[in-house]
Amino acid sequence: MSSIQNVAILGATGSIGRSTLDVIARHPDRFRAFALTAHTQAGELFDLAVRHRPRFVVLGDEAQARDLRGWLAAAGSAVEVLAGAEALAAVAAHPEVDAVMAAIVGAAGLAPTLAAARAAKKVLLANKEALVMAAPIFMAAVREAAATLLPIDSEHNAIFQCLTQGSGGSLAARGVRRIVLTGSGGPFRSRPLAELASVTPDQACAHPTWNMGRKISVDSATMMNKALEIIEAAWLFGARPDEIEVLVHPQSVVHSMVAYADGSVIAQLGNPDMRTPIAQALAHPERIEAGVSALDLARIGALTFEAPDFARFRALALAYEVLAAGGTAPAVFNAANEVAVTAFLARDLAFSRITDIIEATLARVPAGPVRSLDDVLAADRAARAAAREAFGRALSPTI
Ligand code: NAD
Ligand code: MG
Repeated sequence: MSSIQNVAILGATGSIGRSTLDVIARHPDRFRAFALTAHTQAGELFDLAVRHRPRFVVLGDEAQARDLRGWLAAAGSAVEVLAGAEALAAVAAHPEVDAVMAAIVGAAGLAPTLAAARAAKKVLLANKEALVMAAPIFMAAVREAAATLLPIDSEHNAIFQCLTQGSGGSLAARGVRRIVLTGSGGPFRSRPLAELASVTPDQACAHPTWNMGRKISVDSATMMNKALEIIEAAWLFGARPDEIEVLVHPQSVVHSMVAYADGSVIAQLGNPDMRTPIAQALAHPERIEAGVSALDLARIGALTFEAPDFARFRALALAYEVLAAGGTAPAVFNAANEVAVTAFLARDLAFSRITDIIEATLARVPAGPVRSLDDVLAADRAARAAAREAFGRALSPTI
């Protein structure tokens, strides 16, 4: 590699953001943390700024940015502090940035991730919600700007690694029979259904194999995460719904597979550590050390697989319906989930009702065509309003 790549990390204080910084710090000869962003965690961003010395840091609002500016000045740091949504998009599209790690959680990540795509960056996509809600717009932006899009979600990164033969054209033309998305089944895979009404946010966030942010942890517990990943896979790989299969694999060692027409199944394996897909995408097409311990299959002993329980995890069936409906349906699906998960984490909603809210919202907000980003944003707003109404309680206006 001839020069150091400048990386903007959107959502640097989060689980993916920190793993990205860990990989970058192992390779100062290859990567530089050029911009780091966070929503409200000014103290955490201060620590990261002092340690990684980026050119820019970005916070959600100006009052916090002012505090951070003061602390950094007192610490003798030259890091520039920006604030707000425009600054977020500006660092994502900054001319000196080579790669953008899109690791903001939820719909809030859409605008800066889109800005990165439009600026023809190498976009490392963890923020699946941005793709799910606005896929036609986002994929068109990637195509038109000739941006590079690399999946960070472990399943999609695995599939990307397993799609070894052929390029372009449909999956069938490439000899692919099926994409098999694995999922751990989350912490409630076999818990009696009657108990799900009373599980707490901390129980839902205690994922058996992955250590992640709270929103995606709840999504894993409802398997809404896998539902979003079905839609993500459809768009990333041009897969028809009937070409995408979900397989429950509690050990989270096989990260996904591709089944070919000749009977071959290619799988990608590894310890459940997001630094593997992050390093794979950052260094692509090379391979670098990621700080991940070697996979010890003799110690693990057994890998098990089972069909998903569509009755327990209704989000999975809804994902296929949403894909079939197309248009703004995925944006509605995603927004309803964000409202329901926020309410659950605030202890305003029972865990077992999250999927009810999503289903009710899909029934209330009809899918329309996606002709522009405004169509997506209008569907997102309508879904949030309908979801809040669906459980009939006044929630925080910030949701
Ligand atoms: P997290 O909650 O740990 O971190 C989220 C980050 O986004 C934080 O830096 C936060 O400050 C920032 N953020 C939150 N709301 C924001 C807003 N409104 N505006 C600007 N910034 C905001 O989340 P995470 O677990 O790191 O997940 C990030 C994304 O990556 C999600 O889309 C998730 O689905 C995806 N992902 C995560 C994992 C994982 O292992 N954690 C795996 C696959 C995909
Ligand atoms: Mg995943």
